[in-house]
Amino acid sequence: MHRTTSFTSLRQWLPTQYLWPVMLLIGTCLGSLVLIVAVTTRAQDKLQLAREQHSVEQAVQNTVEMAIHDLQDYAKWDDAVRHISQKLDTEWIADNVVAYLAGTQGYSHVLVLDGSDNVVFARVPGGAIKEAATLVAAREFRREVANVRAMPVTGNPIVGGYVRLGSKVYIYTVAQIVPVTEKVRLPERSTHLLAIARPIDSDFLRSLADNQQVQQLSLVLEPVRAGSQVALGGVGGKTQAWLTWKPSTPGAELSRGILPLFLIVGVLTLAVGALIVRLGAGTIKALQSSETHARHLALHDALTGLPNRRALMQHIESLAADSADLTLLWHDLDGFKDVNDLYGHAAGDAVLRQVEERLSAALPCVFVARVGGDEFVAVLNAPSVEDIHHATGAVLGAFAASFLVGTYQIRLGVSIGCAGLGGSSLSPSELMRRADAAMYAAKSQGKGCWRVFEASMDHVHHLRVTMEKDLGEAIATGGIEVVYQPIVDAGSNKIVAVEALSRWTHPVHGTVSPDVFIPLAEQVGMIDALGRHVLREACRASAALPIQLSINLSPAQFWDQNLVRDISMILEEAHFPSERLEVEITESYLLRQPQAAAEILEQLRGTGVTVALDDFGTGFASIGYLRQLPLDRLKIDKQFIKPLESGGRGLDLVCAISALAASLGLEITAEGVETEEQAAMARLAGCSQLQGWLFGRPMAMSDLVDLLETTATSPARQVA
Ligand code: C2E
Ligand code: CA
Ligand code: CA
Repeated sequence: MHRTTSFTSLRQWLPTQYLWPVMLLIGTCLGSLVLIVAVTTRAQDKLQLAREQHSVEQAVQNTVEMAIHDLQDYAKWDDAVRHISQKLDTEWIADNVVAYLAGTQGYSHVLVLDGSDNVVFARVPGGAIKEAATLVAAREFRREVANVRAMPVTGNPIVGGYVRLGSKVYIYTVAQIVPVTEKVRLPERSTHLLAIARPIDSDFLRSLADNQQVQQLSLVLEPVRAGSQVALGGVGGKTQAWLTWKPSTPGAELSRGILPLFLIVGVLTLAVGALIVRLGAGTIKALQSSETHARHLALHDALTGLPNRRALMQHIESLAADSADLTLLWHDLDGFKDVNDLYGHAAGDAVLRQVEERLSAALPCVFVARVGGDEFVAVLNAPSVEDIHHATGAVLGAFAASFLVGTYQIRLGVSIGCAGLGGSSLSPSELMRRADAAMYAAKSQGKGCWRVFEASMDHVHHLRVTMEKDLGEAIATGGIEVVYQPIVDAGSNKIVAVEALSRWTHPVHGTVSPDVFIPLAEQVGMIDALGRHVLREACRASAALPIQLSINLSPAQFWDQNLVRDISMILEEAHFPSERLEVEITESYLLRQPQAAAEILEQLRGTGVTVALDDFGTGFASIGYLRQLPLDRLKIDKQFIKPLESGGRGLDLVCAISALAASLGLEITAEGVETEEQAAMARLAGCSQLQGWLFGRPMAMSDLVDLLETTATSPARQVA
């Protein structure tokens, strides 16, 4: 249990993928080390055994040789022949032979045998002659005696070895007693023998073990099955007994000694290895996480956290590879540009984040990516027609409520383009292009709706893309013309002012409505350049005319810090008195940024320029706002003028507006006056100026000059 726990914690500490290789590596290292030590120590033990074997063998051999050497001096001796062989003198033997061999050299048995092998002298422990007789009677000994007797007396007739008597084993030496010189002669009959022996007893074994440095040396009568032993040979090399001992094992001892060391080294190695891997894993982990972070950044939009265009492409590609039937819903926000223009980019960002939340809630479990400023794409996997209806309905519904940013309630719409693979093998980029084209179709068909891609949409989409490019060129090269629509005094019907309006004649597509290219110029950031061009051109063209000039200012232009300065500079350059210029602004900007708008308008009015509120009635301007703003004029939108001729409440409405304007000290211009009735009603309602086709359409400056000359005497509408 404990083992499992610690192993688990080790696995937690060390990532699993590194745990096994590290353990294997360390295990292999330690295993190899142990093997090397085992082999080395075993070899050492073997060597030691051989050494001990050799030294015990040598000792066994030396002992016999020593005994032979000890006896030889006494057996090959003239005096010994005299006192033993010629006449047995036991006293002499005791004094001269036994004293040294038994006393000094420690032989337990000193025997003298006559020519018939009778023991004629015995010095044995306790003087027991019987024991001496037993030795002499032993077959092995007798055979040795026979051997020694057969040896020539002139040589060294002496033999030695080991003999077993019962459970005892003796080392013995037996020699013929022979003279050294010729002064002494051996008796006729066979000669006497001198023998010495000593038992292999515990004292002997102890001293041998001490000398040879072996442990637990003992005598055994049967060979041991395995291990260390040396045979004790007798006559003819026949083994009488064995010496055995406990072999020393320095290798094993060494390995026993270093085993704990191994354990410590092993544990340390494991710890160090684990630490290295841990550090390495940490580094790898850090690299991995920074790589993951970088990959996340590369594939996600920082503002909303949604996948970006690249991630969308990858997603589509992977689904298409699985031959999934995809449908893309391309969402583009309606009016988002105004949010940025009117409330600033921080508010725009906040709105985008809320859009992300609403889309995610409306399309749960659907892959949604942000692919542009205000463009979001949802990927539906093999949807049915009902699924598409349900998804688009949910998204449109999600935009029903206004977005709350700070204290602002912001209304936004969304246009959705829908394109699917439908079993075809379209490339992801083509699928996206189609969904985009369908979205533009939805936009141009009223916004706040969804459209499914059709082949005819390609043409419209293509037109828009090329126009964007061409418009830039037109603005830069003066390709935008300015036309002038007369504005007449309601009382005299004389032209007192003109409104400058832009015109663009596309080289291929012909006349493009300002309702199309002005929003386009706003969207692509060209409205400032366009506005300056129109003002410069209009001032230059109308400078010499005795009339007022009105120009339109886009809400987007209000964000230009240099607006007032630029207008003043252009007026100066054109020597155009600022009092003759009126700027027309729409309600939207004033409504949303009343404070900022008021400041800019004050600055403008400070230069002498007057300000008109254009398209009045189409927005939501309240009386409160109108009172706060530094305005000079209201231009009532043509939608209020049109119903005037049919009587009814139309007149009441214009009268009410007029009364309101009068109370605020503002002049009123009626726009879109097309008929005499409308003009009469507008006049009746208190409008001081009238503008519309009844008095003149927007026209070239040359035409206007002609018209002014014509109407110098007669009112404009009579010649329009
Ligand atoms: P707006 O400022 O309200 O301009 C008046 C629009 O009403 C003009 O449309 C004009 O042709 C049209 N109009 C005038 N009298 C009548 C009439 O009796 N009946 C009808 N049905 N329409 C009449 P236009 O020229 O197409 O301009 C459309 C809008 O484009 C303008 O509306 C203005 O908001 C914008 N615009 C035009 N030129 C410029 C420009 O140079 N700068 C800016 N910022 N906006 C411009
Ligand atoms: Ca206008
Ligand atoms: Ca207008």
